[in-house]
Amino acid sequence: MRTVIEGAAIATVDADGTEYTDGHVVVNGGLIESVGSGPAPADLPADHLVDGRGCLVTPGFVNTHHHLYQWATRGMAQQSDLFDWLVRLYPVWAGLDEDITRAAAAAGLVRLARTGCTTAADHHYIFPSGVGDLLGATVDAAQTVGIRLHAVRGSMDRGTSAGGLPPDSLVEDTADALDGTGEAIARWHDASRGSFVRIAVGPCSPFSVSADLMSGAAEVARAAGVRMHTHLAETVEEEKQCLAEYACTPVEYAERLGWIGPDVWLAHGVHLSDGAIRTLGASRTGIAHCPTSNSRLGAGIARVADMLAAGVPVGLGADGAASNEDGGLGGELRQAMYLARLRDGAGALDARRALWLATMGGAACLGRQEELGSLEPGKLADVAMWRLTGVEHAGIADPVAAMVFGSLPPLALLLAGGHAVIEDDESCLVTESDVAGDLAVASARLARKAGLLR
Ligand SMILES: [Zn+2]
Repeated sequence: MRTVIEGAAIATVDADGTEYTDGHVVVNGGLIESVGSGPAPADLPADHLVDGRGCLVTPGFVNTHHHLYQWATRGMAQQSDLFDWLVRLYPVWAGLDEDITRAAAAAGLVRLARTGCTTAADHHYIFPSGVGDLLGATVDAAQTVGIRLHAVRGSMDRGTSAGGLPPDSLVEDTADALDGTGEAIARWHDASRGSFVRIAVGPCSPFSVSADLMSGAAEVARAAGVRMHTHLAETVEEEKQCLAEYACTPVEYAERLGWIGPDVWLAHGVHLSDGAIRTLGASRTGIAHCPTSNSRLGAGIARVADMLAAGVPVGLGADGAASNEDGGLGGELRQAMYLARLRDGAGALDARRALWLATMGGAACLGRQEELGSLEPGKLADVAMWRLTGVEHAGIADPVAAMVFGSLPPLALLLAGGHAVIEDDESCLVTESDVAGDLAVASARLARKAGLLR
């Protein structure tokens, strides 16, 4: 089955930044077969011909940090900073079960797909006992919606009695957390090229996880050859606590526990010294930059331009919807560009660099830069086609600017592995009104459990 897109503007995001004002993309067998100027080569006849006139084609976006379960707890703790926000939300999250997690994940993934995302990393670290298979529910939801999932098996073992932030009732035993992590890898991790489900290892953060769990999780991950992910250097308060407790910065702490390296990507990295950025760049440790979440929680502005200059692989993350009620990925390009400019001036980040963060940068964070992130022959056919013919975008001088500076355009087509996930701005594989209905029921049930609704 060969799909041929013709007549579109194309931003390939290859190493040279090649673009075509009127070009073609040919997809065959889940892979990109040809990309170039003008119509497709005559020896590649189409089974399915897509008229790309008036559209911009980009690689599908890669979301590097999320907590899909939080789609069921949006709109809460609206004025809180990170630590206060967490303390208010932990008791609500304690009511999570398999059905709520499935409904929230499906809704969150539909939102991601509707904003151009074809690969999503999800960091799930809440595992109350006896409430079903929460990780399995997330994997199910991704398979239903049709996009790639990197499920980060998270964990917390440091409750308030051990000086941590979460209530004791919400944390696991260190041994149970490590066992659960090993089981998730054995059950779900598919290392093959083109895979749709991979597992990563993700103890939550220094203030909710013991040093033993951090180093034990690193051993589990490296023995299995899977990637490692955690939150780090998100707020000034975290840095203060780290200095007081361990007499080192968060990056020094991570380094001490084996959490720096080319198989690690870290969420946030907002508060980093020049030395910390050099450490991340030299070790090729990735950063999941979450500009909307950082803005909502008042966490600060990450040094994205400095990180890119130092060679740090930087990707974009929507982060959990409890700290980013929009929950989409497309809007993060503009938010990242504007925050970088507020920090470092108008030349700090341009539209094409923002597009790179959402594609190649994200692919590098997930260790999939050979498979994903650009439109080149042989890469996986994860392709977004944005319609620029509406009043919001028509006539603009530059299609990439239309998408990044302007409002996010509607998706004419989104392919993951060559299969249609979105067509004419609607999900192909799920009925969105059903997903929304299930979400409303799940959110209300969770709020009732927490005593927020009668
Ligand atoms: Zn997060």
